[in-house]
Parts: sequence; structure tokens; C-alpha cells
Amino acid sequence: MSTAAITPVLNRASIDAPLALYVHWPFCVSKCPYCDFNSHVRVEVDQVAWRDALLADLAHEAAALPERMLGSIFFGGGTPSLMPPETVAAVIDAAAGHWRVDADVEITLEANPSSVEAARFANIAAAGVNRVSLGLQALDDEALRFLGRAHDVAEGLAALDTAQDAFARVSFDLIYALPGQSLSAWERELARALGFGTEHLSLYQLTIEPGTRFATLVQQGALTPADRDHAATLFEATRAMTAAAGLPAYEISSHAKLDAESRHNLTYWRYGDYAGVGPGAHGRRGGAATVRHRKPENWIGAVARNGHGLQSEAALTPAARAAEALLMGLRLREGVDLARIAAETGVAVGSLIEDRAVARLPDLVIRDGDRLRVTERGALLLDAILAEVVAV
Ligand code: SF4
Repeated sequence: MSTAAITPVLNRASIDAPLALYVHWPFCVSKCPYCDFNSHVRVEVDQVAWRDALLADLAHEAAALPERMLGSIFFGGGTPSLMPPETVAAVIDAAAGHWRVDADVEITLEANPSSVEAARFANIAAAGVNRVSLGLQALDDEALRFLGRAHDVAEGLAALDTAQDAFARVSFDLIYALPGQSLSAWERELARALGFGTEHLSLYQLTIEPGTRFATLVQQGALTPADRDHAATLFEATRAMTAAAGLPAYEISSHAKLDAESRHNLTYWRYGDYAGVGPGAHGRRGGAATVRHRKPENWIGAVARNGHGLQSEAALTPAARAAEALLMGLRLREGVDLARIAAETGVAVGSLIEDRAVARLPDLVIRDGDRLRVTERGALLLDAILAEVVAV
């Protein structure tokens, strides 16, 4: 691990591309049993110290990324809707002082739909947030209890209503393929979700992540995940229903109306530069990977000692950058531009992918000149396809 300064690899195109800023707020009211995010429950948070530390960490990244145009900010967590709106405003104002800001900048905050948090939405919008991503997760009280969520359906829908009044752009998350969930039950839930008229939906299958409470229950035989074939059927139904409703999938789990895609997430998937500040935040800048200390106490201690929360900063090899660009970009319906990846990493187009594997899988992956993309059928088998096709 190193925190020595890395000379950025930047060409004109990457300097002109919009920069994304990710800000991590690691605290939650309670820990959900499926969650492997960097989230922590703490009785008390010193809000002034946390605001100042985030601003210091941000200033460090800004100094390493001069002259850039900020295209998006994303407050993720944890539960950033627990942040004081004044801290959200301070971070946005500081970012606008460090960088030029795109006239159409997208500023997203992840929110939990409790009544306490919904009561803050107007102030969070006044702080400059123009898009909210709401963690509804289910439209069924029993499912919400199973997922360990702190809200019920009525509270969640009231928060959605408040969010649609407060923010120009609203997305919400649902988790499906829950144990015992039938196709018809999911179709009813998704139809209801589509009826709320948001411009964007993030729809995730329940996965059992190592180290979570659900993983322990599976080991103990107390929880049986959905069968893979059944989960695949639900995935296909999800794609069909969202497309028919005018919110087709533009990424494996992300569905949006035309031009309502998350610009911030598109920057990740198109392998643009992003600065990451706050505990555990990752960043990519000029060919270097940055990682912040994960545990909140370690991160804020590092900021006090060093003026930033970096745990490591390392230059990536051209092959590693090319592989990342392919792995991220093939999640997108639009696929990847092999010539662009080659130009930006210095890895020859011919060395990026296994042409014979592409030819062997015509139903799953398609190459059209320099564009490579995964088909609708292939989206279901993405991990297996990537293992076959990515050469670097
Ligand atoms: S609210 Fe979100 S981040 Fe917090 S524990 Fe639950 S799933 Fe994880």
C-alpha cells in the first residue's frame, strides 16, 4: 500500500470528460441482514468533526484533479439521508469551489424512506440535491420485515410522495427473488412500482453476501435462497415489463426512461474518472486507483493525521485498466467501444477480447466493428460471458 503521489495518466479526452464525485456517509440506524455495504451503527456521531473531515478529504482529491468539470455528485452509504442538510450543502458548495460545475450537474442522495428522513427532503433539496434514490426495497410489509427494514409500506409510499414533490428526479430500489416469491407476486409488485411514474428504477435480485446475517442463516439451513432458474425467470419478466412500460434496462439492474439514466453511474460503467471521499470510498483518477480507510474511526483518524483519508493509491497497469473498462462497460446495454478502450489504455484492440469466444457465443455477445455488447439473453449470464470473452 502506498500513499505516495502518483503521476496521473491524462489525455485531453479524459480531462474534458465530466468528473464524478462520490461521497460516502457510513452510518445507518440498524444493519439490514442482507447488507455487505460499508455501513455502521453508532450511538453518536460528532457532526461538526464529520463535516470538517469530509471537506478536508474532498480538498485533497480536488488538488489531485485540477481543471476538471464536475458532472455529478453522489451521496451514498450507509444512509446519507441521515446527514445534516447543512453538511450536504457544505460538501456541494466546497465541490463547486474546487471545480467548474456542469450547468446540468446531477446531484443524487440515497435516502431511506422513514418519516424522519422524509421530513428532511425539502432541506436536502434546498442544499442542492436534485435527484434522490429511495431505498423502498419492497411493497409488501412481510417482505420488508424479512429484509430487516425500519419502514413499512405505508411509510415508504408516503416518503416517495414527499420525494416526488421535493426533487426533480426520483428513483427507487426494489429487491426481488426473495425466498418463496412467486412470479405472479413479483409481477404484481413491479406493475405497482411502475405505476408510481418515477423516471428510474433500480431492481436487484437478492444475493447472499459473505459475512451477512443472511449468509449465516443459509449456513445454518434456516434460509433457502431462490432457485437460480426461478430467479432467471423473474429477471426476464423484469426486463420485459420495464421495457413495455418505457423504462428499459440500460444496465443489468438499472431501468430508466429516455435520458433519465443515472449520469453518475454511467461515469463508472463507461470508465470515466471519479473521485471518492469518505470511509471506504474508491476512486479512479488518471489511471490510478484510490481507496479510503474503511472503518469510520480509522478514516477520520487518518484525515486528522494526514489531511486525507487515503489508505492506498496505486497506478494501475494498462492491462488492469483495460480489463476494468471491459468488465464495467459490458454491464451496459450499449456495450463498450473497443477502440476507445485501446486508445485510453494503450492495449491493442486485438489483445482486449477472445475473438474465438465471441464467435462461439453469437446468442450471448455481439461484436459489430469496434463495439462489443452483450445480448438480452447474455445479460442473464454476464459473469460467465466475461470469464470467456475478456482476454486482458
Ligand atoms: S440501510 Fe442500506 S446501507 Fe444501511 S444497513 Fe440497510 S442496506 Fe445496508
